[in-house]
Amino acid sequence: IAPSSSDDDRGATASRPLQQARGTRDERMGDRFNTSDELTEEEVYDEDAAWKKKKESILKKLPPGVDESAAKQILNDIVVQGDEVRWSDIAGLEVAKNALREAVVYPFLRPDLFMGLREPARGMLLFGPPGTGKTMLARAVATESRSTFFSISASSLTSKFLGESEKLVRALFGLAKVLAPSIIFVDEIDSLLSQRSGSGEHEATRRIKTEFLIQWSDLQRAAAGRESTDRDRDRGDANRVLVLAATNLPWAIDEAARRRFVRRQYIPLPEASTRETQLRTLLGQQKHGLSSEDISELVRLTEGFSGSDITALAKDAAMGPLRSVGDALLHMTMDDIRPITLLDFKTSLGSIRPSVSQAGLKEYEDWAREFGERG
Ligand code: ADP
Repeated sequence: IAPSSSDDDRGATASRPLQQARGTRDERMGDRFNTSDELTEEEVYDEDAAWKKKKESILKKLPPGVDESAAKQILNDIVVQGDEVRWSDIAGLEVAKNALREAVVYPFLRPDLFMGLREPARGMLLFGPPGTGKTMLARAVATESRSTFFSISASSLTSKFLGESEKLVRALFGLAKVLAPSIIFVDEIDSLLSQRSGSGEHEATRRIKTEFLIQWSDLQRAAAGRESTDRDRDRGDANRVLVLAATNLPWAIDEAARRRFVRRQYIPLPEASTRETQLRTLLGQQKHGLSSEDISELVRLTEGFSGSDITALAKDAAMGPLRSVGDALLHMTMDDIRPITLLDFKTSLGSIRPSVSQAGLKEYEDWAREFGERG
């Protein structure tokens, strides 16, 4: 299990003031684990120390049925701390952002307004080609809704931690309730909830899948207040835990599991205006000589590229000015390096190609038409 992949172009958010990040985290943890009274002055200014204390306090009050070493692992590797993503970091995807605001962010911030008919969905699926911003969206939802962000990759759950995985799944849901509001983000959900069944399915994988579905159902029941042991706090906590899943292979998810995701949001390849926004943002950090017309041409040339393809292209093009000087760069000043040009991009386009083919794209469009909401 790995924490969500780090975004390599997140420099701008990484330097956000410490104060702001800390405020958000304290709000996220709720007051039950607010250890600020016990922190020394030094620890208040040291995020890692503060989080360490909070973890200790959480581990002392684990809910029944949650294994301690599994809980430790979740708190250390699965809860994502810092390096936050905001809506404004994500180019385009306005429809998806609005759907996520309505389905998660507002209900988490104002649970009193979202009851009865307005009760929020407990699961949402983001599907579409790879590299289109699904992970970024999930992280932004966690930041904007001030939630604890649990990030697991389903493929690592089913491969690396076989045997321990059921305990981990229980600890994951147990801690998500304790640390509510929480987002449980499951990347590559297809590998956990795939259609492989019966003899073809690995026994251990099947057990993890079953445990995941049981925990998720319990959450839904508790939120609806149908639990026999229902207590107000349980219900409130369960109400503010959402399973947000992402997949590049939506058709691999089995039908029963698919139906549990009441909301299924298509995250398509970026359209022209989104590609332009992203290119301008990426170039904004660099010395470049591209005119508006050059950027328009680049937008046209990158038709069919995903957000991550565009990032890869811009990174490669940014190397152009350095490549052209060779060893001499070791003695050059910043001012001596020429700006990035359209020609650098055109050269890079020779090697960096879109990762989704036209045929592949059609599969997503077809699936979206049949099972999804468009965005
Ligand atoms: P996915 O989860 O859909 O496979 P990610 O969210 O991990 O894709 O995106 C991978 C990388 O691509 C990001 O770190 C970012 O650099 C870039 N990227 C993708 N979509 C966007 C977007 N809409 N705006 C800005 N950057 C994007």
